[in-house]
Amino acid sequence: MNSAITKHLICINCPLGCRLTVSLQDGQMASLDGNGCGRGARYAAQEAVQPMRVLTGLMKAEGCRRPFAVRSDRAIPKELLLQCAAELKRIHPKPPIAAGDVIIPHILGTNASIIATQNFDN
Ligand code: SF4
Repeated sequence: MNSAITKHLICINCPLGCRLTVSLQDGQMASLDGNGCGRGARYAAQEAVQPMRVLTGLMKAEGCRRPFAVRSDRAIPKELLLQCAAELKRIHPKPPIAAGDVIIPHILGTNASIIATQNFDN
């Protein structure tokens, strides 16, 4: 059975903010209107089919009340962000922690790892 849907997006790749209309057929981009350039087409193909986001957040180290900042080293499928955020709450690495340390490698089996963005020593 064919399933067709239309999504409306705003391209975020430059200040023009083109309004994109994407038609999806069986989960794949079938047509695109409104993009002013190829970057918009690539953005639409990703965002309409599998939106990705960099995750930022705070974690608590073992035995510490004050949190430290982390982020993913690459974008994660948007549908996994809540589960990934739960992992940030669940896991408590041992200090000291240095900016750039990998805190959670390949979170939830993705290609993305969670890294510290600050030095932290209790
Ligand atoms: S489609 Fe191209 S011109 Fe339009 S906002 Fe995106 S990057 Fe800018």
